[in-house]
Amino acid sequence: MTEEFIGNRPIRLLLHQSILAGTLAQAYIFSGPDGLGKKRLALNLARSLNCRAGSPGLYFCGQCSSCRKINTGNHPDVQVILPETKVFKIDQIRQLIQDIQFLPSEGNRRLFILEGAERMNEEAANSLLKTLEEPPTKSILVLLTTNFYALLPTIRSRCQIMKFMPIPTTELEDALVRYHDFTPGDAAKVARLAHGSLGAALELNLETVQELEDESFKLLRTMTLADDADFLEHLSRVAAHWKAETEQADLFANILISILREFIIMEVFKDRDHIVHFGRLETLRELRRSFQDDIVDELLIDLEGFYRRLKYNINAELGLQNLFLKHRSRILRRERYDSARRYQD
Ligand SMILES: [Zn+2]
Repeated sequence: MTEEFIGNRPIRLLLHQSILAGTLAQAYIFSGPDGLGKKRLALNLARSLNCRAGSPGLYFCGQCSSCRKINTGNHPDVQVILPETKVFKIDQIRQLIQDIQFLPSEGNRRLFILEGAERMNEEAANSLLKTLEEPPTKSILVLLTTNFYALLPTIRSRCQIMKFMPIPTTELEDALVRYHDFTPGDAAKVARLAHGSLGAALELNLETVQELEDESFKLLRTMTLADDADFLEHLSRVAAHWKAETEQADLFANILISILREFIIMEVFKDRDHIVHFGRLETLRELRRSFQDDIVDELLIDLEGFYRRLKYNINAELGLQNLFLKHRSRILRRERYDSARRYQD
């Protein structure tokens, strides 16, 4: 086990012990969202089984000719197979079935990693079934999938299943600082936006995060002020931005949610350690005062629902506008009511 692999320790331990005990399965399913290290762990398994340094269990040296060939994708006994089209072509699977029968040409075990295994159609999956029933002893097949239930039940039942879990935020934060040169502040922010995925954390562009965070703060600020023109102008600018760059819509919603969560965290924990946007603690505090508790809760619930629906190609621009208009009118109504009451008192 190399130290820099983070998260999913139970899976790593199980593989480690299976290698030591000689009880590795011949077919695995590694299932879970992108960015949790499924492919990397499958390759680590290939490295450790073929490492010439004789490292025990899931350990490998990373330096020997075998490890180096795997690093560069040139090991004759290790194959990563991707669908050539939207789904795997039957020919690709037939080729795999043929190749898997051969003995290793230079290593100890052959490893076949099928990426996006859910993209096998029924014909391809059925032809693979026979191989899974009588697997060749020197080959291991690892199916990687983000959609476990899209695999045929007959395939699922013939493989050992490893379900990858999101990496805990603190562990992710720690890894970003330790292995990827993040400052603690950036690591905290990115880790919370990445939902337990190291891959997603590393893909985030810090400048974009910063820019969208600025926009988010502005939007929340103008939302609480009486100036309609300013708010509407800002809202339509943000919405237009969402329409133009749909991928950023996702991140934008994510950042808005993280700011609102911070409002709640601020109430519970008074110390700075728990607050991610601590570079802007004052802005956050000031902004928090403009939102009534129930509005924070409801806006957060609405945004979270909206964030989930973004996956289904909804009209993000319109959705965002409606959501903010609704909550803004509630905030302003409440303010008018409060000041009227103050006047009466
Ligand atoms: Zn090695």
